[in-house]
Amino acid sequence: MDGHGFRPAEEQTPDTHAPVEVGLHGVTKRFSDQVAVDDITLQVHEGEFFSVLGPSGCGKTTLLRMIAGFEDPTEGRIELDGVDMVGVPPYRRDVNTVFQSYALFPHMSVWDNVAYGVKRKGVRGAQLKKVVGEHLELVRLSQYAKRRPAQLSGGQQQRVAIARALAAGPQLLLLDEPLGALDAVLRKELQIELMRIQREVGTTFLYVTHDQEEALVLSHRIAVMNAGRLEQVGYPEDVYERPATRFVAGFIGTSNILDAKVSGVRGRWVELEAPGVARLRAPVQREVRHGQRVAATVRPEKVHLYDLAEEPPSGWCALTGTVRDVVYTGVSTQYVVDVPGGDVLVAFVQNTRRIDDAGSPGQPVRMAWDPDFTVLLENADD
Ligand code: ATP
Repeated sequence: MDGHGFRPAEEQTPDTHAPVEVGLHGVTKRFSDQVAVDDITLQVHEGEFFSVLGPSGCGKTTLLRMIAGFEDPTEGRIELDGVDMVGVPPYRRDVNTVFQSYALFPHMSVWDNVAYGVKRKGVRGAQLKKVVGEHLELVRLSQYAKRRPAQLSGGQQQRVAIARALAAGPQLLLLDEPLGALDAVLRKELQIELMRIQREVGTTFLYVTHDQEEALVLSHRIAVMNAGRLEQVGYPEDVYERPATRFVAGFIGTSNILDAKVSGVRGRWVELEAPGVARLRAPVQREVRHGQRVAATVRPEKVHLYDLAEEPPSGWCALTGTVRDVVYTGVSTQYVVDVPGGDVLVAFVQNTRRIDDAGSPGQPVRMAWDPDFTVLLENADD
């Protein structure tokens, strides 16, 4: 995505100077008249934990299956480690996949499951024992080596699947919603484990999920997909703090969107006009024209609430609205506020002090935020 005014992901960490592990060039997949993956160009670098994030049906699994070799692209080219994969069958690709369903061999012990791919590579004897032992250790299951999969919990089974996939020593590990079948607590535990494992072994992980928090927590970089297309590729803080499109703003977090018009550019600020908004401006992130209609967004935790009698810091974006809902969520309270022009803005206020009169539905309230946190979205003029 060009023209954002923030540093492209490639400049931010040394990871992306590493050689390209997965190169997708204009990859499209059609199933009869349905376009599941639409013209995707993307590079994943060696050693990255890279997530493809998007809603159900957006084409994530299809993309992964093409990289693994289970499907052929209708158009475009896939390169692994710089080599064109056209006509290369799955078993000849230096890739393994971990599925949501574990897919372990039920009649084999944990040890034999992990040994399976290693043996297929012709490794035997002491070396085989070493590799399997190390990988059971890696996923902290050494004491369960003799058990069958059915004698393990879901989380433990998924650890076996991860050990089995890594023991064969692939360059690239594909993970398709691997934590999808686990309950919330186990999911969080295994997220931490997966991060540790990936950082320890350094294998490139290409991870598919519809869970935005999971992608933000785990990944070096994230590609956000919608209806077969890439909406944005960037570091977690890029896609969260500076969403490029309405879709990304809404899918990752809460979409706080104000429809506005450009009234001028002064220095590093784009000045905006929106109905009933006293002051609205955003850092210049891309070229805009006077009078252009744009959509501006701000994350709810950046928005502060004030009584009408209080003055927010000078230069901040500010507007007055009417509280519609107040939702207590433990660490914070969520204020849903109707603002002039028919938009709704949400503010998260940390519950750092006891609040007895925190505003109630129907009450007027002032909302304000540092203009550095206003983000202009792409394509708002279309
Ligand atoms: P989920 O998170 O629900 O698994 P996804 O993002 O992985 O979704 P895909 O499974 O890649 O999405 O599917 C993308 C689109 O392609 C969907 O609309 C799906 O119905 C369609 N599709 C996938 N595989 C086939 C197939 N073999 N034949 C026809 N259509 C398919």
